[in-house]
Amino acid sequence: GDRLLDVKDLKVSFRTYAGEVQAVRGVTFHLNKGEVLAIVGESGCGKSVTAQTLMRLIPTPPSYIKSGSILFEGKTDIVKLSNRQMEKIRGSEMGMIFQDPMTSLNPTMKIGEQITEGLIKHRGLKKKAAVQKAIELLKLVGINSPEGRIHQYPHELSGGMRQRVMIAIALACSPKLLIADEPTTALDVTIQAQIIDLMKSISEKTESSIIVITHDLGVVADMAQRVVVMYAGKIVEQGTVDEIFYDPQHPYTWGLLRSVPRLDTNSDEELIPIPGTPPDLFAPPKGCAFAARCPYAMKACLEEDPEHTPLSETHSAACWLLHPDAPKVERPVQIGG
Ligand code: SF4
Ligand code: MG
Repeated sequence: GDRLLDVKDLKVSFRTYAGEVQAVRGVTFHLNKGEVLAIVGESGCGKSVTAQTLMRLIPTPPSYIKSGSILFEGKTDIVKLSNRQMEKIRGSEMGMIFQDPMTSLNPTMKIGEQITEGLIKHRGLKKKAAVQKAIELLKLVGINSPEGRIHQYPHELSGGMRQRVMIAIALACSPKLLIADEPTTALDVTIQAQIIDLMKSISEKTESSIIVITHDLGVVADMAQRVVVMYAGKIVEQGTVDEIFYDPQHPYTWGLLRSVPRLDTNSDEELIPIPGTPPDLFAPPKGCAFAARCPYAMKACLEEDPEHTPLSETHSAACWLLHPDAPKVERPVQIGG
């Protein structure tokens, strides 16, 4: 089909001295070929662990995949691959862009060598062809005079340029899957907007499917087609960007929309942080994990975790307010006016 990834009931836990932390508690979603999917939520919601698990980058032990499957191109279950098979797929079919380029670029290697490394190792290119490709990639990510840049070291570049180099490295082997974990968080606002534009143009120019992990809904509005909202290790709502921005149904999504500035509007809407903190994932609550922070929490919310209610072919949310017998509440967000 046209799905690159099909994730079913994925559960990931961490063994710690104090016990098991259930970081990801059964997430089900898919990624279409060529699309940009955003996974959104506060820190600790399981979004990074989910993304790292897709590439099997979570440290094992202490973390482990408890259950679930991750079907890659409808046939390979990432969960079941050996480390060796996984290494091969990761190098050639997957690319990762991290928040801080300084921690993932090698400070002692010229950037040209860092880009050509994968091309030589995974694509069998000769040195000269790899250098040529590195120059093309640097052009693609908007770096001027790439012929000179390939001889420079990471510390000779600005933060925004280092992020572009990291994107070039991630793109080198034309990965089918590109995962960007908070790709703009460490950058100032102007550079953030440039990197978002770049990621957008990459999704248009290449065939890579992209997953963007972010707490910032501004990033999402500008580059993603669909959004998955996570809270306390579960997906609480998912839909197209329009459905999430203009017709959100989960109180947590309402809270996120009110608490995060958006890059695409100049409105002076007041930003209201969501009060309270997420639950402890040593002992997740029996009912809805958002209940302690939710102004609409009812008796049912404390007793049983709501299932997802389908709202359209692309949209669903897990909240008791969507039950036919639930009281009608006034939606606190006016988005898009
Ligand atoms: Fe709030 Fe209840 Fe919905 Fe959870 S299920 S978000 S507590 S209304
Ligand atoms: Mg993170």
